[in-house]
Amino acid sequence: MRALVADDDPISRLIAQRALETLGHDCRVVNDGAQAWDAFRSWHPDVVISDWAMPGLTGIQLCRNIRASASGGYTYFVMVSSLGGFDKILEGMRAGADDYLVKPLDSDLLEARLIAADRVTSLHRQLARQQTELEGLNQKLTAMARRDPLTGLGNRRALEEDLDQLEARVRRYGHRYCMAVIDIDHFKSYNDTYGHQGGDEVLQAVAAQLKAHTRGGDEVYRYGGDEFLCIFPEQSLATGALAVQRMRIGLERLDIPHADSPTNMLTFSAGLAMLDPGHARSTSEVLKEADEALYRAKELGRNRIVEAV
Ligand code: GH3
Ligand code: MG
Repeated sequence: MRALVADDDPISRLIAQRALETLGHDCRVVNDGAQAWDAFRSWHPDVVISDWAMPGLTGIQLCRNIRASASGGYTYFVMVSSLGGFDKILEGMRAGADDYLVKPLDSDLLEARLIAADRVTSLHRQLARQQTELEGLNQKLTAMARRDPLTGLGNRRALEEDLDQLEARVRRYGHRYCMAVIDIDHFKSYNDTYGHQGGDEVLQAVAAQLKAHTRGGDEVYRYGGDEFLCIFPEQSLATGALAVQRMRIGLERLDIPHADSPTNMLTFSAGLAMLDPGHARSTSEVLKEADEALYRAKELGRNRIVEAV
């Protein structure tokens, strides 16, 4: 352990230092409260063995400072005093001390206290490690809860959370977003022909294709079974449509065979709508408009992009 001894009495300092060094602890010694406080802040000892009555800062003040400081680990504080009355012991413990020793210092008693100090500080270190691990796990779980496991894209939950933020940004800062709902054509029959596993692989390929054609700031989510949603910040309907067109051509180039489709290959249709400050609409209204545009794209023969009117 790193042990700090603070005492203005050289004999007590020496007894404590000898005991600590004999037991193999890393020891620093100071002779007043102010130096002890400086050493605590720069060195972060595991244990402080401090005299009560010292010039500058008393042991009680030093202990209160240490307890109030947001230093990383736990510091075990042993108060040392020539006053052994019960009221003094209580006062020391109330100020935050973990233990109390009456002078003259007895090195055997000190050794016993150091065993307790070692136990308590290791427990605190273990707790801190577990806390860090838990926080890491928690972050992973939160990230997992927002991700679609098949495609790795944001899922419906992530979309809903992000849409709330977009709506606020439109209202507060006048931002605008082009939204595209993209749905694979004849996907049901793709599953029937190539099997569910084949369908899953196609969903992954389409997701990767959409992602590959996004730019920084754009977002792609898995919106439903074979439906995806792209958000293009600060794009108009026309420039958003160009981005989706690049995605559509990208998928065409993959040339995924689909025997049950009129084009004999896998295609998608898309509907686009705008979330902007010019039209006071909620995100759900905008998504409904994009869905209606998608429906028209399907009616018009699929493999196309239709903008909301
Ligand atoms: P349309 O051209 O009008 O879009 O017709 P469609 O056949 O694609 O019909 P629809 O979009 O309604 O069908 C979606 C299908 O997607 C139905 C469901 O069996 C399938 N599906 C949904 N989730 C999954 C999945 O995780 N994996 C696979 N393989 N198929 C899925
Ligand atoms: Mg479909």
